[in-house]
Amino acid sequence: MDELEHKYEVEIHETEDKQKLPDQLKKDLKEAGMMDDKGKLKLKGVSPKMLKRMKQEFVDCPVLKEKTQFIQCFMCPNFQSRVTGKVLCKGDSLK
Ligand code: SF4
Repeated sequence: MDELEHKYEVEIHETEDKQKLPDQLKKDLKEAGMMDDKGKLKLKGVSPKMLKRMKQEFVDCPVLKEKTQFIQCFMCPNFQSRVTGKVLCKGDSLK
């Protein structure tokens, strides 16, 4: 029983487009100490290379029913972990 309890396995996709973080998310990241005042992300244990990749990633969120940037997904209370190109998502309602 190593498996975490999760409802969805959400595939992670990559985009070439520049993804802009929503203002609310930036605020949350700053409050959590995960972004500096210049808007640079600082995630513990995540290398700059990985961070760059994360910025290009998104999921089709089954709860919000919309395209959601991986960084946002990573901050989401439903986020459990990331395994081999997938997010394990608790799937609880976010409203
Ligand atoms: S963790 Fe949150 S953002 Fe990510 S797929 Fe699940 S509900 Fe959507």
